[in-house]
Amino acid sequence: MAAHQEKKLAEERKHQNMQNNTKASQGQWGRAWEVDWFSLASILFLLMFAPLIVYYFIMSCDQYQCSLTDPLLDLLTGNKHLSDIWNRTPMLTYRAAGIYSLWVTFQVVLYVAIPDFCHKFLPGYVGGVQEGAVTPAGVVNKYEINGLQAWIITHVLWFANASYFHFFSPTIIFDNWIPLLWCANILGYAVSTFAMIKGYFFPTNAKDCKFTGNFFYDYMMGIEFNPRIGKWFDFKLFFNGRPGIVAWTLINLSFAAKQQELYGEVTNSMILVNVLQGIYVLDFFWNEAWYLKTIDICHDHFGWYLGWGDCVWLPYLYTLQGLYLVYHPVQLCTAHAVGVLLLGLLGYSIFRMTNHQKDLFRRTNGNCRIWGKKPEYIECSYVSVDGTKYYSKLLTSGFWGWARHFNYTGDLMGSLAYCLACGFEHILPYFYIVYMTILLTHRCVRDEHRCCSKYGKDWKRYTAAVSYRLLPGIF
Ligand code: NDP
Repeated sequence: MAAHQEKKLAEERKHQNMQNNTKASQGQWGRAWEVDWFSLASILFLLMFAPLIVYYFIMSCDQYQCSLTDPLLDLLTGNKHLSDIWNRTPMLTYRAAGIYSLWVTFQVVLYVAIPDFCHKFLPGYVGGVQEGAVTPAGVVNKYEINGLQAWIITHVLWFANASYFHFFSPTIIFDNWIPLLWCANILGYAVSTFAMIKGYFFPTNAKDCKFTGNFFYDYMMGIEFNPRIGKWFDFKLFFNGRPGIVAWTLINLSFAAKQQELYGEVTNSMILVNVLQGIYVLDFFWNEAWYLKTIDICHDHFGWYLGWGDCVWLPYLYTLQGLYLVYHPVQLCTAHAVGVLLLGLLGYSIFRMTNHQKDLFRRTNGNCRIWGKKPEYIECSYVSVDGTKYYSKLLTSGFWGWARHFNYTGDLMGSLAYCLACGFEHILPYFYIVYMTILLTHRCVRDEHRCCSKYGKDWKRYTAAVSYRLLPGIF
């Protein structure tokens, strides 16, 4: 009898432990399970206003030479009505719908139908089938990494057309910029809505879904962790990288072509923006396998935030500098241009080296050298949903000993350089640095909150060892 009771008690304890583990670990990944009023208010604000913000910026360039204040002044003084502005806005056209459908279809084909060949001849490049990080349910997804190849093929065709075939003008993107905005919105909303329905009715991995019970929160932040169609069409990898990031450099090229058409020359500021942002985009595709281990793929669920954000916010607002320079062809003096170039390259180098240090450290499980020395680190552990205990390490030397997110600091320096390339006449091109500062600061807080619940006291030891987030001695 006593033995039977003892066994029952032990089983209850085990069950209790499992539940505690599950509770603890469910808080570790992705977004919250319970929605506080501040998060809900922010989400409602973004759902309502983010599309308007994008429209406002693009309309300001189209109708007000990129002045952000003039439309407001016109409206406030009664000089213009909302209907006047709206009536002057280009609507959706068949041509734009055709271009956009062709564009997205082409990127889907490049993504699913052409296995990577770049890794076979490019030394140091990691492509082909790669594994992602362990998901909360303990799943390790496989990905076909072929973004660099998609980017190269797309750009070779672009240049072949621009210099030889002339099937379409390289200004095609600029010339259809607002009609294409409507297409991007349609895709953004369609994919987010589809992802929500899929999360409820046919999720790829039910154990990796999160439901808060709040419709708006679930729609915005996503339910499914890694929604897929078939074995290989991964929503997060596709929408994050293409069509948005492949398009980024093409959009800039189209803006440069428009400058050439309008003014007979391409300014040094436009070249700087094309080159610096081009390096950033190329870096993204060269390191696409590394990208599988970043927060977007490892921790965020797929909802409107990623779906609409990748289709609309990214291609339209990350390219504001190039758009601005079409309306204001700034020619920088040599000192200014060199300063911008140096800041951009320094920011990029810090961004890349910091990310590389963490990647190398994690890949080799600490058996590597950081700045010529054995890495210093803190041992930590965490538990997945099924109760399995995992061990990990947090690097505390190299750039990771200076601040907990020095990669963000480098990114912000590069972002500032793009803005500075546009001179000081208008605030519109500076939106990017303001946005990136908010995004990455919020990310710091969000990521640290998650890491704290994931690693518990180990995370506290880490923050005691590396006390600053972005700027050593300041923040
Ligand atoms: P990180 O690459 O910094 O990844 C954060 C994760 O790394 C943490 O959740 C933790 O994950 C792990 N980690 C944290 N500290 C350490 C440490 N000391 N040692 C080892 N591992 C650690 O963040 P992101 O994924 O957000 O960003 C990646 C890059 O992308 C950044 O350079 C950022 O600037 C850039 N970025 C650019 C954006 C843009 O719009 N241009 C948007 C977002 C990011 P774990 O659970 O594995 O421990």
